[in-house]
Amino acid sequence: MTVKIEIQRGSAVPLSRRHPKFLGQGMLKGMEVVLDHWFKSFGPKLENFSQTAGIFTTEYPEERLKLAEAYRNLPILLYDDETGQELCTSCLQCEKICPPQVIHITQTKDPSTGKLVLAAAEFIIEYDACMGCGLCAEVCPFDSIKMDHHYELSTADHASLTMHKADLLRPVSYYQSLAPTFWEQTKENAYKKLQNTVKRRSGLLGIAPSMVGKVQPPETKPAE
Ligand code: SF4
Ligand code: SF4
Repeated sequence: MTVKIEIQRGSAVPLSRRHPKFLGQGMLKGMEVVLDHWFKSFGPKLENFSQTAGIFTTEYPEERLKLAEAYRNLPILLYDDETGQELCTSCLQCEKICPPQVIHITQTKDPSTGKLVLAAAEFIIEYDACMGCGLCAEVCPFDSIKMDHHYELSTADHASLTMHKADLLRPVSYYQSLAPTFWEQTKENAYKKLQNTVKRRSGLLGIAPSMVGKVQPPETKPAE
């Protein structure tokens, strides 16, 4: 049997729901879902408040999560702890590969010969424009530039984010503490290259500024 319903234009027609709900039924259903998830997440893991294992919110900045070795933020330069010799030879490869062009290197000349020396006179990185891509560290043939884990760099002072060589230099032991596995894999090669580099330096050329006066510089070579 066909029932014909005529609805006049402009009239409001009350519709009856197919499954009538009592007041608040949807809210209770939602709470049931939330509590179900909560108990599945925390119930079996946290039975009392004295537990030290389970799922917690890290109370930053009082607490900090341990970062993975491969974590990278911004680049730093390395020097040898004992001799103060910088691993960088100013080969310029990192400067060339840097996508936003934020690395600026000035090469060193031996004052007695006027010839280029395997050391950087100045090494600047504009931290405020660095995107932390890590390409500079990957391309460096001397394992001189590595990615730091330090991330609390917020400042209102724009100029303070232009890092000079003295700001960037860290002892190898610092990087080793961040990434012991990575350094173990590369240290033999890095030190072999550093030894070859040092043979071609003299005096204070290539020695980290913070180490000048604390280490014995290599003998000054006679001018050719
Ligand atoms: S991490 Fe990337 S952007 Fe930053 S200095 Fe290195 S190459 Fe340039
Ligand atoms: S950091 Fe590495 S790639 Fe960059 S100039 Fe120094 S030695 Fe070359």
